[in-house]
This record gives sequence, C-alpha cells and structure tokens, in this order.
Amino acid sequence: MIACTNCREAGCEHCENGYVVYRQCPPQTLPQDMYSSVAEAEMLDAGILPVAGGLHDQDAYFVEFAKLFLSYKNEMEYSE
Ligand SMILES: [Zn+2]
Repeated sequence: MIACTNCREAGCEHCENGYVVYRQCPPQTLPQDMYSSVAEAEMLDAGILPVAGGLHDQDAYFVEFAKLFLSYKNEMEYSE
C-alpha cells in the first residue's frame, strides 16, 4: 500500500481512501517494455546511462519518462 501521489491521500478515483493498494507484484502489472524503462531510469538515477555517450545521446522520450518517474519515486520516498 502506497500513498496516492495523485490526491496526496485525500482519496480519488485512482486509489482507495488515499492509498494505492497492490494485490500482486508491481513489476508484474507493467508491460515488459515499461518495466525495462523503469529499470533503465533506476540506472540513470545511479549515474549509468542506458546508451553510450552523454545525456543528449539518450532517447528524448526516455529522458522525459525518467524525469517523471524519478520525480514520482522521490515524492513517494519522502512521503513515507
Ligand atoms: Zn488518490
């Protein structure tokens, strides 16, 4: 159970009374390509780029995804 980042625990259509309840392993709820992107975003957070080169050599869509994912991840970690 994780605090809902959409409503900040107020309760909304995306959660149950302010909390997102997982009834199975979260990675199993993601499509495989999404799971790979999450894993690569975690690597980026650790300073490892998925594609050789610099930040501008990375896929622009991946960089935008990673920024959004890491923002949510940090928000969840600091709200616990
Ligand atoms: Zn909610």
